[in-house]
Amino acid sequence: MKTASDKNIPYKIYLKENEIPTEWYNVRADMKEKPAPLLNPQTLEPMTAEELSHVFCEELVKQELDNDTAYIKIPEEIVDFYKMYRPSPLVRAYCLEEKLQTPAKIYYKFEGNNTSGSHKLNSAIAQAYYAKKQGLKGVTTETGAGQWGTALSMACSYLGLDCKVYMVKVSYEQKPFRREVMRTFGASVTPSPSMETEIGKKILSEHPGTTGSLGCAISEAVEKAVSSEGYRYVLGSVLNQVLLHQSVIGLETKRALDKYDVKADIVIGCAGGGSNLGGLISPFMGEKLRGEADYRIIAVEPASCPSLTRGRYAYDYCDTGMVCPLAKMYTLGCDYIPAPNHAGGLRYHGMSSILSKLYDDKLMEAVSVTQTEVFKAAEEFARVEGILPAPESAHAIKVAMDEALRCKESGEEKNIVFGLTGTGYFDMVAYEKFHDGLMENYIPTDDELEIAWKKLPKVDR
Ligand SMILES: *Cc1c(COP(=O)(O)O)cnc(C)c1O
Repeated sequence: MKTASDKNIPYKIYLKENEIPTEWYNVRADMKEKPAPLLNPQTLEPMTAEELSHVFCEELVKQELDNDTAYIKIPEEIVDFYKMYRPSPLVRAYCLEEKLQTPAKIYYKFEGNNTSGSHKLNSAIAQAYYAKKQGLKGVTTETGAGQWGTALSMACSYLGLDCKVYMVKVSYEQKPFRREVMRTFGASVTPSPSMETEIGKKILSEHPGTTGSLGCAISEAVEKAVSSEGYRYVLGSVLNQVLLHQSVIGLETKRALDKYDVKADIVIGCAGGGSNLGGLISPFMGEKLRGEADYRIIAVEPASCPSLTRGRYAYDYCDTGMVCPLAKMYTLGCDYIPAPNHAGGLRYHGMSSILSKLYDDKLMEAVSVTQTEVFKAAEEFARVEGILPAPESAHAIKVAMDEALRCKESGEEKNIVFGLTGTGYFDMVAYEKFHDGLMENYIPTDDELEIAWKKLPKVDR
């Protein structure tokens, strides 16, 4: 039992408003070997700024291609928006520590304190801001479970920008509440595949009755953007620019720990496309890359969609329609459709090129966990810490708890830091399945993975 005098670190470490970072940190600047460039799918040559500018707005293209600038100024307007919900608290999980009876010290960075309910708003406001600054009319995007679409619709309504969201059809039908939040913020939401785009029509004619996929919604959103005057496409994860914007998470975390002279030993985050994890670990990884400190860094992914732990490191398509640039990443193949999994934000077939490179260079670790163990951890966490976690976030909780229990066995007082990316209020159907014992754990066979890899493009890079 920890006594009051052991608790000289507050339950919540809040930074002051003027301690919100004013620069993003670009971890690529400290990587000796850079992540592989995006390739043009026709020529297989690196995408040029000019080519990318048809899809993304100019300032974001610059950020996407910038492997060298370590600190990039956050425009004042974005910092002002951040002030509505940042700095986010770094919580010392005293109650969880006590429940686990561990000598480890557990901290989590909580990104769920905004209406969109997740960290995605950190990048949504940045992307919407640059689109507005370029004088564009609006942006298009896709959303799976709906968190990204929600965040983007909030950012767009704040800036007076049109927002067109292609929402994976199965989520559109099963998650009407998310859809309505987006519409409340003025976005138009179309179930994907739709008849609004050529690729949508093609997919519908080949697979009538399909309930859609993220890869397919991406293709539709990109097509809509490049064929509509004054529109660009924005993406909520995977890209270098998104990891850059999400570095506010890590910078705040580091600053809060530094205030109390706490040195993290292990940093843990869930990994879908890699944006929250990339953002959380960036400043820690920077120190590791520069040889200033060492950290264990762990990515956690679902066993049903194990891109890092079982994927191939290769160039692949980012979308089903194969209209996007090729990215070199740990991938399960762009046709891989993960079995239904209640962590919708972790169902992408690939992984950020930055994280893929760091993982391939053995600078970080990855583990996969099954759904039922994740929900068990989510529930335990909720009962002691009082936050209902998103299923995605609960992947990190599960592994943080495992590491804390390991410390209990060894008697080590390690400092464990994990990212609690969001809240799970829109995921109660999943919690219901778990409570009723109806949740299944699906783990793909090697043969299933082999099939999806057959379609990997042939690239000698
Ligand atoms: C989208 C999402 C994730 C996963 O996305 P990353 O880009 O890997 O961070 C994790 N948690 C929540 C709550 C999300 O909405």
